[in-house]
Amino acid sequence: MLMPVASAFRTSHSLATVVVVALLCSCSTSFMQQVHAVESPYETVEICGHVEQLTFNGTLTNQSVQWQTNLGPRIPGSNASEAFRNSVEENLTQWNVSNHEYTVDNLTFTNIEATLSPQDADGETPRVVLVAHYDTRNVAERDSDENRTDEPIVGANDGASGAAALLELARIIPSMNLGYEVKLLWTDAEDQHYSPHRFFGAEAWAGHQSQLDINRTDAYIVLDMIGDADLQLTHVWPGNNELWSTITPLAQALGMVENQTDCNGQAGIKIFDMNTSIGVYDDHIAALDIGIPAIDLIDIRYGPNATPFGGYWHTHEDTPDKVSAESLETVGRMVELGLRSGAWLRTNVTQNENLEPEDLQENSSNETSKEMNTETTVTHPLLATLALSSIGILALLVAFLVWNTRKDF
Ligand SMILES: [Zn+2]
Repeated sequence: MLMPVASAFRTSHSLATVVVVALLCSCSTSFMQQVHAVESPYETVEICGHVEQLTFNGTLTNQSVQWQTNLGPRIPGSNASEAFRNSVEENLTQWNVSNHEYTVDNLTFTNIEATLSPQDADGETPRVVLVAHYDTRNVAERDSDENRTDEPIVGANDGASGAAALLELARIIPSMNLGYEVKLLWTDAEDQHYSPHRFFGAEAWAGHQSQLDINRTDAYIVLDMIGDADLQLTHVWPGNNELWSTITPLAQALGMVENQTDCNGQAGIKIFDMNTSIGVYDDHIAALDIGIPAIDLIDIRYGPNATPFGGYWHTHEDTPDKVSAESLETVGRMVELGLRSGAWLRTNVTQNENLEPEDLQENSSNETSKEMNTETTVTHPLLATLALSSIGILALLVAFLVWNTRKDF
């Protein structure tokens, strides 16, 4: 995946900086909001009763990561990319699998879609879309070896991990007999070096959805970079907050939330931290833009003590030995639990309710988000944006006052 993060609130004036930081500290507590409840139109569902049923296998998933990296870089149009598609088609015998080739800006790429519908499905059957990119980056611009930055990476975590999780879900979903449709979408050309960055596969998919299909899509969940041995999941923005509210109870049920009791009565450990929010542009943006509730499950701090968009990300160090079966299984079980419990089905949704005011607000602030992207403890985007705007204005005011004071001297 790709989206660079710049530090927020850079200013050359130290006094202004101090004031801004002070304001930020004082404000952040006032709008910090713990998310404990599932938000409408999603409903609280029974979760713990499904934990015993979970069968997602992290070892098999990790074997797929190894297999994919053995194919070599899966850049669009490569033999390795084709081999991956062939494997999906051969293995998903219970699914309706189709390839969708597009050419945009002279780049030809192919999405893979696999669909499983209940027997009584009709044109309005709700669906959940699970997404991962299967292409790998064609450059390693962050590698420490300057002689190798032009070479493609094998993408064990950034590419293979999400793609492998979808394959494992494809293996186990048919036996769940779900009462709704599941679509698995392996996007191509998510991670190609292109300026400005494009999410070609996800954009092409979104551009071909009918209004009826948009309306019946209850959730669109991206899995990207989920295999880091040091797994640290957070809230990611932009994203649909109602859909995010369903993730906390699922994570808590599996002991992934620090000090929260899981279904076995054990205290959880810090794997999923809803109170930290990181700005990431990924394959969920195109779906959000057409009004589908979408989120991105991603650990963008890849490697021990890595900072966001640091560590092994986009380097030749993104190799299978950095990916763990345990992490893959942790995320995979959470997704399986969401599917089995029906946590991602909405109730009473009409067409006009698809895009909540909050999402509209988030979408409209995409451009500024890129510039102001930061890791914070803010969890409510509307309040956050209001507060950040106020801070910005105050900062300008302070800078102006300081400048005026100095002029007087
Ligand atoms: Zn990437």
